[in-house]
Amino acid sequence: MLRALAFTVLSISLVVGENSSPPAKGQNVVILLIDGYGAELFNRTNSAIRVGAEALLTNGVKAGYLRPVFPTLTYPNWFSLATGLYVESHNFTSDYMYDEEHNIYFERDEGPNDTNHIWWEGLPDPLWYTVGKANIDVHCYWFGSCHRPHRDLIVQVPKPRRHNFKNHDVVNVFNHLEGIFKHVKKYQQYKQQLVLLRYNGIANALRQFGEESDAINDALSNADVLIRDIQEKMTQHELLDSTNLIVLSDHGLMEIYEDEKYYIEDCISDLSLIQRVVNSLSIMMVYPVEGNTDRIFFELKSCDQWLALGDYDSEESPVVQIYRKEELPDTLYWKHSRNIGPIVLIARPGAAIISRDLPTNEVLETHYRDLHVHSGWDNHNPEMQGIFMARGPAFKPNEEIPSISIIDIQPLVLNILDIESKHTANGSLENIQGVLTAGWEDRTATDDASTTSFLTAACLTVVGTLVRHLM
Ligand SMILES: [Zn+2]
Repeated sequence: MLRALAFTVLSISLVVGENSSPPAKGQNVVILLIDGYGAELFNRTNSAIRVGAEALLTNGVKAGYLRPVFPTLTYPNWFSLATGLYVESHNFTSDYMYDEEHNIYFERDEGPNDTNHIWWEGLPDPLWYTVGKANIDVHCYWFGSCHRPHRDLIVQVPKPRRHNFKNHDVVNVFNHLEGIFKHVKKYQQYKQQLVLLRYNGIANALRQFGEESDAINDALSNADVLIRDIQEKMTQHELLDSTNLIVLSDHGLMEIYEDEKYYIEDCISDLSLIQRVVNSLSIMMVYPVEGNTDRIFFELKSCDQWLALGDYDSEESPVVQIYRKEELPDTLYWKHSRNIGPIVLIARPGAAIISRDLPTNEVLETHYRDLHVHSGWDNHNPEMQGIFMARGPAFKPNEEIPSISIIDIQPLVLNILDIESKHTANGSLENIQGVLTAGWEDRTATDDASTTSFLTAACLTVVGTLVRHLM
């Protein structure tokens, strides 16, 4: 109750700030995140349902692919997108996590403990916070965690527009487009806008029906119409000179091979020595009963079933790699996170590790039944790569770059909006600077901007103090 009161006060102060802010000097950014839309899938999609995307690309920039972070699951990548950081710096290690100290699970927004503050402790500022603090309007449409209070700011997101995986429906972004672009147009002279949209139709169709289905064609077509409609609205409201559109995905999805499914139980002589497993298919974290880590590690490491499969595969690495947490490769930028089990199993792309008897969290058990495709595997695998395309005043027309990383997006968006982050991102503008329009390197906070930030900051500090007193 007190918390709610404090944030209400904050939102009033933001409204006051809105009315008194000086004329906007810069550009707007609209991001459309399309869940699970892989670069390979985009490339094999029929050109008849890539019309909106082609229009965008003629006027903008395409990356050959967008590299996700490891593991190529949703939550790790959403937070890398929001912070510009590798997983070990934001701690969202996977879609399912276990906290040993508090004995609770994180279950991709579907569990009773998912709103517990411990998961967010030490989380560096997400994009919407940094942008909101700079007195820029933030609008969120099913963008994960956007509505969650962070430090002294909360982005007001009406409940029907909040992301929740419990709701399996395909979200309807279409109905909101006219309202969004009317708003952008109306505030054009006064205030910059950041709009975060997410479309889940492609990932939903792939997971339920696989790539060889009518459902996926419909979803791909819908995504393309969405990309087309957004550009039409931008044209209609004369926003093409002021507003940038970035279309991207968090990772690709690929088929789970029926003949490469492995039960972890087949490697363990005494199941009572394992307390729990967390995640399955592409990765699995194993929590042995205290004092048994060495034994379980050895049994898993020497288990026959996932060693190379005869002559044909003798050149390849084992189907499943077994690591102690501290021995995980540095190149994954993952092992220094909280919420990783003492032993980690990582499957080769397409292969799957499953548990039939070991204790795990409830949501996980139901979620992985009947999945056709999945992600989480090697973030260098071609099928795991996402898409990136963008047009607007910040981007040169008809350009292509080989690749961009998901950790480059936060620095890119902040550069376009001309604001600075409190933390230094792991990503950078290095990959994309060649196709940005002139002046990108000078887009640091100007006097104008710092005055604005100062006024907002002063206002927020007062409220921040109040929040601390009330809590
Ligand atoms: Zn995802």
